[in-house]
Amino acid sequence: MEYIIAIGTNLEREKNLGFALKRLKEEFTLVAASSVYETSPYGYQNQPNFYNMIVKIRTELPPEEVLKKLQEIENEAGRERKIKWGPRSLDLDIVLWSGGRVKTENLTIPHYDLKNRLFFILPLLEIEGDIELDGENLFYLANRLLPYQGIRKIDFPLP
Ligand code: ATP
Ligand code: MG
Ligand code: MG
Repeated sequence: MEYIIAIGTNLEREKNLGFALKRLKEEFTLVAASSVYETSPYGYQNQPNFYNMIVKIRTELPPEEVLKKLQEIENEAGRERKIKWGPRSLDLDIVLWSGGRVKTENLTIPHYDLKNRLFFILPLLEIEGDIELDGENLFYLANRLLPYQGIRKIDFPLP
């Protein structure tokens, strides 16, 4: 099974992004990685800019088990959950998976806000090309959001 995972951090960004990649490679097979993007905060504005990227992983684990592993890695990075959409050392979200849809109490795939987040869509375009989500393609969605969401590709030496 393949999963698209979104990585986000806005505290000790270099360290936490490097840590996330290292741990994801230990737990899963890394299939592809996007560029890294620096992005303006989403929702709650009074916080540092984020680093965001997307990776594609392969594993035999079902979605609930993958979520558990991702939350373990977030906790190892010292993730605290005080303010919704607030500053975080590490956020690992499941954006898509090869098995289609999931809707349980603690897991929704595709990610419920995918279509509204340029920091998911631009790196996803790099990995998946111009795929369709419910009849709208990624390029169309990106164009719709570009005027409103600050994002720039940065040079980040991947470990
Ligand atoms: P957002 O989901 O809006 O990006 P967030 O990532 O900051 O916000 P978290 O605190 O990381 O939110 O997660 C809150 C809960 O979201 C988790 O406990 C998890 O059960 C649930 N959740 C539902 N769908 C997903 C998904 N696709 N990926 C990760 N977590 C999910
Ligand atoms: Mg998130
Ligand atoms: Mg999350």
